[in-house]
Amino acid sequence: MTSLDAAPGSPSGTPRRQVWFLTGSQGLYGEDTLRQVAEQSRAIAEQLSAALGEGAVELAWKPVLTDAAAIRRVCLDANGDDECVGLIAWMHTFSPAKMWISGLDALRKPLLHLHTQANVALPWSTIDMDFMNLNQAAHGDREFGFVQTRLGVPRKTVAGHVSDPGVAERIGTWIRAAVGLAEVRTLKLARFGDNMRDVAVTEGDKVEAQLRFGVSVNTYGVNDLVAVVDSVTDARIDDLVKQYEDEYRVAPQLRSGGERHDSLRYAARIELGLRDFLTSGGFRAFTTNFEDLGGLRQLPGLAVQRLMADGYGFGGEGDWKTSVLLRTVKAMAARRPGGTSFMEDYTYNFEPGREVILGAHMLEVCPSIATETPSCEIHPLGIGGREDPVRLVFDARPGPAVVVGLADIGERFRLVANEIDVVPPLEPLPKLPVARAVWTPRPNLRTSAEAWLTAGAPHHTVLSSAVGAEELHDLAEMLSVELLVIDADTTVRQFTRELRWNQAYHRLAQGF
Ligand code: MN
Repeated sequence: MTSLDAAPGSPSGTPRRQVWFLTGSQGLYGEDTLRQVAEQSRAIAEQLSAALGEGAVELAWKPVLTDAAAIRRVCLDANGDDECVGLIAWMHTFSPAKMWISGLDALRKPLLHLHTQANVALPWSTIDMDFMNLNQAAHGDREFGFVQTRLGVPRKTVAGHVSDPGVAERIGTWIRAAVGLAEVRTLKLARFGDNMRDVAVTEGDKVEAQLRFGVSVNTYGVNDLVAVVDSVTDARIDDLVKQYEDEYRVAPQLRSGGERHDSLRYAARIELGLRDFLTSGGFRAFTTNFEDLGGLRQLPGLAVQRLMADGYGFGGEGDWKTSVLLRTVKAMAARRPGGTSFMEDYTYNFEPGREVILGAHMLEVCPSIATETPSCEIHPLGIGGREDPVRLVFDARPGPAVVVGLADIGERFRLVANEIDVVPPLEPLPKLPVARAVWTPRPNLRTSAEAWLTAGAPHHTVLSSAVGAEELHDLAEMLSVELLVIDADTTVRQFTRELRWNQAYHRLAQGF
């Protein structure tokens, strides 16, 4: 059972991801200069690649572009290449930008404009006109910036030398967002049962979602899943239960020979059946609904937690939007330190000076955010009317993180993110039988909650300590989806104005 985001070439079938590195110039300079441009641009790409580190994404250098036909061709090739998640473009010299119009107009992949140059320092004592002609990104990139703005090309602009760690960091952030975009563009989500009855915020326009994000969202009868769960062999269950006993602190009553061992075996059966169903259908995200469990004897808890840990998107109560967001953020977070989980704002500590949010769910919190080895337990669940479900229980790892929610506000989707600091529980929670996270939202609980509620943002979120607000910003730009960020600088007054301006902007941007 491998992670969905295992290293490229792994058996999980994760596609190889590339970012193409384009260099603009023109024929006017002659062969010698163009050869130097190519050498220096290759060196810059290699330096950037090394600074980005061993990641999932390969930086693919492309030959220097000097005419409109080649530029159009590379943009069309990028559109058609599933491995290409985005393009970085740098005008090493002056590249008259009319030659970029057809290509940029056709381009459908994310673009990053890298405004750099080969040298860090000016060679003051030796600089001559040859050097000036070779190293003129300072105005070549301005010509390129103009044409992008003139055409309305969405892009991220990053300025500075690639040896500056801040430059590589910002490019790395954009690449993670591009990987998230590539993932959601082809994502398939399976819903087991529909929406929890009467809940509003978990509803949404699935047709619009497929157009805007690419994800296809479809419902399956839960008994289709039950048929797969029931067909799992005892031998596979034996192996998985052994794995549980190695990986977690399994409660004695659940262990082999314990009086509730059968419940652990049934939890393993659900996990194996769910995996089989999702794998055979090519689904990387799913939802469940405790009101619609068909022949399932337990609400899936442990199984959902372990599938999330392997990279699957999940939403409770039929919440497909949060499931889509979770899978997307997990793809962005691949191989990063930190974890990413489904989360729900549950209850508050309002004591002055100790204000925190206690987040959790009925069962389904991802162990990637756990601070210690989870304990595997069984407790009654006063909802759903089924057998007691098995679940992993743990506290979340303290540190900076972000929570982000996706709402359908009727005429568009809205993302709202809040920068938070996960903290240890203020006191032990010996009676709480679910995994949980305790956090202080920035700038404080009152402002965060007032802004969140004013934005109409959901109670289900994705909590991540592996990606932050800049990745979410880059992703929102690529998707042309509204993003509001609540952070240390937020005031309710300014946030309310931003909501109002956004309303006008997004209506204008979409046309009437
Ligand atoms: Mn919920």
